[in-house]
Amino acid sequence: MKVFPRAQIDITALHHNVLQLQKIAPHSKLMAVVKANAYGHGLTSICKHLTEVDGFGLARLEEAMQVRAAGVGAHLLLLEGVFRSSDLYYLASHNIDTVVHHQSQVDMLEEVTLAKPINVWIKIDTGMHRLGFLAEEFNDAYQRLLNNPNVAKPINFMTHFGCADDQANPVTLQQIQRFNELTQGLEGQRTLANSAGILGYQDAHQDWIRAGIALYGVSPIEGDRATNHGLQPAMRLISKLIAVRDHKAGEPVGYGGSWRSEQDTKLGVVAIGYGDGYPRNAPTGTPVYINGRRVPIVGRVSMDMLSVDLGADSIDKVGDDAILWGPELPVEEVAEYIGTISYELVTKLTPRVMVDCE
Ligand SMILES: *Cc1c(COP(=O)(O)O)cnc(C)c1O
Repeated sequence: MKVFPRAQIDITALHHNVLQLQKIAPHSKLMAVVKANAYGHGLTSICKHLTEVDGFGLARLEEAMQVRAAGVGAHLLLLEGVFRSSDLYYLASHNIDTVVHHQSQVDMLEEVTLAKPINVWIKIDTGMHRLGFLAEEFNDAYQRLLNNPNVAKPINFMTHFGCADDQANPVTLQQIQRFNELTQGLEGQRTLANSAGILGYQDAHQDWIRAGIALYGVSPIEGDRATNHGLQPAMRLISKLIAVRDHKAGEPVGYGGSWRSEQDTKLGVVAIGYGDGYPRNAPTGTPVYINGRRVPIVGRVSMDMLSVDLGADSIDKVGDDAILWGPELPVEEVAEYIGTISYELVTKLTPRVMVDCE
């Protein structure tokens, strides 16, 4: 039995996107970023299917443990590093790389005695000012890591972009330049680019690209669509019409009666709501794709349902598919209506939505 709502994951599209990213950055290794349940696409099944990538990036140790427990032996990197020194023993025994972005993590690496040194990526703050060592702090941290027997050599280097989704902003080029200057002549691998960096800045590709949202066939760039870059949407969020009703002009719909129809019409009720992670703040007019066309949400999104205006002449029936986003309706477009980013929509699906890798 097929459960609804469902997030159908198109593995063929994911394989295609890996190839496409490899074409865009042909000299770089590809790290697939799979934090937050692989952006809602299902952490362990994505890691099991994408055997062709060079490694996976995760935010938290718990995510890495899940991947290892599922029997995935691939190269893993903890993008936020460890939060406790005891975590380092797990990294050493399970062969997981870590980012070091803060003095406290340099301290932790000096507090333990590991059976085997671990691979470290020192994170440099080149202008985003969230995580990482500033240029003036870098050398001290780097020297301490070099002198630490728990740290494998050579040490690797990373930075992260704050504004790469905005091509007009010169800060990304400055970030690349600062990174190159600071790491010049040092032995070790380098990684700078998230999806926006991959799509917009060739100079940022270097040894490893770190692809998150683009891998899932979604563009990180405002007003853009992933299909413009030859990428295919991997997720289709789908539910069903559970009611089709005649509706009189002037009558209100839903909680608060916030919307009234101007003419007699037919309304459809779709089984999805904020309890599934579909945002409650999706305004009237946000599109849903039903039987080959976009129809607008009307009134407030409820916990388990939302209403759409099917139109007076519609012939849609109970049981018909309703696509909230997917190849037919880009999640980028839905995010624009809702006033958020696609990242938030795909990662916020709740466990009630069945994630189905076809
Ligand atoms: C999440 C993340 C990425 C991936 O970002 P996208 O914009 O989804 O490609 C890359 N690097 C780091 C450090 C991250 O935290």
